[in-house]
Amino acid sequence: MTTVRDPLERVLGAKTAKVLDSAFGMATAGDLLRHYPRRYASRGELTELSSLQEGEHVTVLAKVALVRKLPMGGRRGDRLEVVVTDGTARLTLMFFHKAGYWQRLLRQEALGLFAGTVSSFRGKRQLIHPDCEMLPTETTATGQAAEYAAGFAAELIPVYPASAKISSWQIAKAVRTVLDTLDLGADPLPAELREKHELISLAEATMAVHRPIDTDDYRKARLRLKWDEAFVLQAALAQRRLAAAALPATPRPLLSGGLAEAFDSRLPFSLTAGQCAAGETISSDLACAFPMHRLLQGEVGSGKTVIAVRAMLQVIDAGGQAALLAPTEVLAQQHYRSISAMLGPLGQAGRLGGAETATRVVLLTGSTGIAARREALTDVFTGDAGIVIGTHALLEEHVRFSDLGLVVIDEQHRFGVEQRDALREKAPGGRPHVLVMTATPIPRTVAMTVYGDLETSTLTELPSGRSPIASHVVPADRPRFLDRAWERIREEVSQGRQAYVVCPRVGTGDGPDEEEPPDESAGDGEETTARRPPLAVLDVAPALAEGPLNGLRVAVLHGRMPADEKERVMRSFTEGHLDVLVATTVIEVGVDVPNATVMVVMDADRFGVSQLHQLRGRVGRGKHPGLCLLVTEAEEGSPARERLDAVAATLDGFSLSRLDLEQRREGDVLGATQAGRRSSLKLLSLLADEDLIRQAREEASTVVRDDPDLADHQPLAEAIAVLLGPQRAEFLDKT
Ligand code: ADP
Ligand code: MG
Repeated sequence: MTTVRDPLERVLGAKTAKVLDSAFGMATAGDLLRHYPRRYASRGELTELSSLQEGEHVTVLAKVALVRKLPMGGRRGDRLEVVVTDGTARLTLMFFHKAGYWQRLLRQEALGLFAGTVSSFRGKRQLIHPDCEMLPTETTATGQAAEYAAGFAAELIPVYPASAKISSWQIAKAVRTVLDTLDLGADPLPAELREKHELISLAEATMAVHRPIDTDDYRKARLRLKWDEAFVLQAALAQRRLAAAALPATPRPLLSGGLAEAFDSRLPFSLTAGQCAAGETISSDLACAFPMHRLLQGEVGSGKTVIAVRAMLQVIDAGGQAALLAPTEVLAQQHYRSISAMLGPLGQAGRLGGAETATRVVLLTGSTGIAARREALTDVFTGDAGIVIGTHALLEEHVRFSDLGLVVIDEQHRFGVEQRDALREKAPGGRPHVLVMTATPIPRTVAMTVYGDLETSTLTELPSGRSPIASHVVPADRPRFLDRAWERIREEVSQGRQAYVVCPRVGTGDGPDEEEPPDESAGDGEETTARRPPLAVLDVAPALAEGPLNGLRVAVLHGRMPADEKERVMRSFTEGHLDVLVATTVIEVGVDVPNATVMVVMDADRFGVSQLHQLRGRVGRGKHPGLCLLVTEAEEGSPARERLDAVAATLDGFSLSRLDLEQRREGDVLGATQAGRRSSLKLLSLLADEDLIRQAREEASTVVRDDPDLADHQPLAEAIAVLLGPQRAEFLDKT
């Protein structure tokens, strides 16, 4: 008997197991069973040959139309040319060896599956030495075709995601071997749940997804298997939430007459309704005796930082300290400056002019000087520093807090899980409360899945008085349009305003870029031809300074500059001593210069949708309207161009994040956050299956609430263990 945990080597032999491992990273029988067919070819319906693309690895179902033996020019032996057709288009199969063997196999009128990489010869599409599997067609030859046709067409052939090393039907064969001896054990979905949602058993579904009898059969199978994915994951998350809620944390209730109150009365504006609501929720979270795990999401400029500062002050009033983690030094420095300014005398304890109840704000980054660092570390250790701002340098071991009560993580997508954990371990007494802030709007179901252990608050409105950002796509091959872009920059600068020019890369001839490579989703998957390297800051800046932006004060900013240099440039730009900043995505998150009004993004198609949306949030932050120009060589109508058009057409971050998600594989989204693990979601779509995910979450929460250790749900506990794997389990233990 084979179980899902059995290594493939034992079930299929070393050779096949090795190929499956190297092609798909499969290790166990369960991995293979979760390699679901991409689609099902019905035998009666021939695959469209007309849509084959050169370079694609394909499996086609076609009929042999013509077989010709041709002499090998000059050499001994024959080659065999076979033309197959699906009734609409033709495809040539070429065999250079064993022509006689193939001639016997590929008889006129024979129906077969052919797999190979599409190439082209003299304008004709061909497969060279394809893998062939002939289908039993003796029936059609006997003239009983019509009679058989119906039954024949009904049979569904699974088409698996294949690779050059292993074809779809070799995978099918391996799956059959596993299925023949499979023992799935007890069903992980409780019987009541299956009944309520009309789901078939796991054993039935596993069989039907790989060997469906008809369409209805595999639909039922897929529904059931989607439920497994959603339910098991949600049960794991529910357990995790429950465990987190059971951990002790020091309650930090809001006290009157403290810094938090003083801060509120200092604010030069009134909070938006969303800010008030989120602020109150966080305030009551902090008062609880178990740690807060909250995600605060809101567009760039929606005022998240203000909310975070209020939360930090509440914790300080209650005797604790707060740490703010930023993804880059530039951001840490900027937070330090703006938070110090927001606090004014409230943040200047022990200094002339500092308020009596004041606390101290310290900055700790990799580039903090030795003396300043020693002083900062002392302040952190004694507790004199209420607010500690930094990058991951904060996670170094010798940073000791007196009483860390709250950790705020800005732009969480840049922080790994391990880093989150490391910081939590800095609070020896109890777990600190954790607030995660992100400007990347996350669709609800993604939040439920990726951040399933976090509660979420969302700021949906921007503070009033913001100016809108206009966005346009600028075709790079139309010199007049590009000239106009530079002209716009000159116009803005002449009005005393500033501009950004963003490039995907730092310099020519460098390897992979520093800390922030453009988004992976940017490239078009189908594009295999070498493209020119993306434009680089170090090339574009001098070209602009000597050309179209001649006479303006142009500087560069990128992650490879020393930190003090970056800091100097950023400050100089903030203070208005520079007109144009040519930068990489270091300016993507959080950089706040209200006087900057234009942004020109070079090679905009090399960035992801959400990333572009983040980038343009840098302009239009003041009273003047913002302008974002997306320069691209992508042709009109191409997928890359459509993506840019979509960004230009809407400012709604949520709809753009959906688009982003549709365009990248969801596994990447999950993978990035789930400590780089391969996605466990094969069938479930975070966008299309919102309803199912929501129901699964409710059901899972109920089950876990009534049976926290899943003692009465052993099969489910097993499934969770398999899902999490050894690393994930460890990662859960830490939280
Ligand atoms: P986020 O972190 O969400 O990008 P910030 O908290 O940095 O946004 O706020 C952006 C700017 O808006 C800051 O200069 C901040 O002082 C200001 N701001 C925040 N809340 C309000 C508000 N309710 N009314 C007016 N301005 C606000
Ligand atoms: Mg911010």
